[in-house]
Formats: sequence, C-alpha cells, structure tokens
Amino acid sequence: MKIQRIIFSVISIGILTACAVTSNRSVLVNKGTPANIQDISPSDKGPIIVKKIIAADWLAEREGLINLKDLKAVAAGLQSGKESIQIYFYVMDHPKFGRYVIDTGLADIFRKDKKEWPVSGIVASQMNLGELKIHTTIKEWLQKEPKKVEGIFLTHLHLDHILGTQDFPAGTSMYTGQNEPGDSRFLHLFVQGSTDTLLGHDTSLSELNFLGREGSPIRFLDFFGDQSLYIISVPGHTEGSIAFLIKSTNGVQLVTGDTCHTSWGWLNNVTPGGFTKDLERNKVSLDLLQAVAAKFPKIQIHPGHQSIPTPSK
Ligand SMILES: [Zn+2]
Repeated sequence: MKIQRIIFSVISIGILTACAVTSNRSVLVNKGTPANIQDISPSDKGPIIVKKIIAADWLAEREGLINLKDLKAVAAGLQSGKESIQIYFYVMDHPKFGRYVIDTGLADIFRKDKKEWPVSGIVASQMNLGELKIHTTIKEWLQKEPKKVEGIFLTHLHLDHILGTQDFPAGTSMYTGQNEPGDSRFLHLFVQGSTDTLLGHDTSLSELNFLGREGSPIRFLDFFGDQSLYIISVPGHTEGSIAFLIKSTNGVQLVTGDTCHTSWGWLNNVTPGGFTKDLERNKVSLDLLQAVAAKFPKIQIHPGHQSIPTPSK
C-alpha cells in the first residue's frame, strides 16, 4: 500500500512538473504572407545568398536520430550505436532586407574548460557535449563577418540549436515557430535552466504566427513577401519546429531542421527516433517537406545534422 502510494506520488509529480522548454518571455508576431504549397513559384533561383557553416563535428545515438523501429530501418539493418553528425548554422543575405541567420552554431565559451560552459553538468554529459570538435564559434565568425545580423531564426529550441546564441549582440531579434517556447515535456524539467541561460534570461522570443484568420493552421509564410524565403511550420519533432525553403543565387535550398536529422532519414523518408516528441506529427511534417522538395528537381536538401553529398558535375 505504502509503495503504491509512493509510486502514485512520483507519477503525479512527473505529470505536474512537465515543464516548458524555456521560461523566457515570448510574443506572437505577425510576419510574412501566408501561402500554400501551390503558391510557391517553380523558379529555381532567387536573390538570397546562402552559406552553410559547419560549427562542429559531433556524435549522437542513432536511435535518437532515426526511428530504428521503422520497417525501412529494420530492412536496412540499422542498429543502435553512435552516428557521426555535425552542428550547422546558415547565413542568408537578402539584397534588400539584409542578413539573417538560421540556428546559432556554438559560442566561444565552448572552446574553454567544461566547468565554464553555460549548461548543467548532467545535461552536458547526457548530450555528449564532450565529443564536440569545434570548427568555428559565432564569435570567431562575427569577427570575420561583422555585417549586422537582422534576425536569428531558431529551427527549434533544443539545446544543440541555441549553443551559440550568447555570442550574438544582445537584442538581436530571435524568431521561433508558434508554441515552441511553451513546448511542454517532462524532460524539460532538466533542461529548462540551461535553455534559459543559453538564450539569455532577458531575451524575448518572437513566435511566428502560423494561424490564419479563421484559426486554421498556416503551413507556409512568405517571410519577406517576395517569394524568396518560405518558413514552413513542421510540428512534431517539437511543438513549433520550423523549416526553410530558400530561393538562393545558387539554386533552391531546403533546410529541414530536426524534422529530419540525417541523410539516410531524408533519402528514405524516415523520421527521427527518440529525440522527437511526436513521431506521427513528425512524419506528417516530413511528408510535407518531401512534397515541397518534389516540386524542384534540382533542390539541395539540408537535413538537421548531416549533409547529403551533391553528385559531382
Ligand atoms: Zn538538433
């Protein structure tokens, strides 16, 4: 009886303490023009100059990155184990609207001793942060590229996408998908403190409004209103995950965020595994991204943590 009561209490605490990913303030903002997949013009090129930058090499558990229970993964004989991955950030220069960044790479403090890192020791060890091999930090990149960053888009608020936030000037606008800051999960009980510290406690987040006038969800926002950058609502991996379709000078690019972590996952249309909150919604969102990609025969796809090799010309 006593044991049952203890178990019940533990479960109750667990339910009651499911907590938001961050306690930072956020405001809902109306940006961009709502669009449908049919509205996206078939032109391959556009005015944005895009650069993909490797912030670090890293290792993660394959069963988090790929749903190993998926029949295609079983058929391919994929096993649990460590997978080599990378952390990226993307720089977009629009000739009229200036420079925007997707995700944040790593801050310079991660070059220093672990004791100084702005994440809790438990989180750092659970995330395998000791395995990071840094290529460049945001501070180093900003020294070489001092052009003003007008805004940062966060594909989602998992820690590996906000590790570089503190190196950007305070007050830089930070955009997330709708409902991302309030994304509630028991796991967040352990990471909320680190998330808040990395974002900066005074930082206010702007949640992009993906609800139409009648309250129906919008999947695409034409962010600049000139069909050069579509932000795509892809809930599932997290509540407010977002992806990006960019019409660049170098062809059309799709940045999937962690709706798909790996090259194998994209090429086989298999969702991530344990790192995803809701596998079914993640699959619906991944299918949407595959449908977008199918419109452009020459599209370049950028999964969240690996790069698909481009065929040699
Ligand atoms: Zn990630």
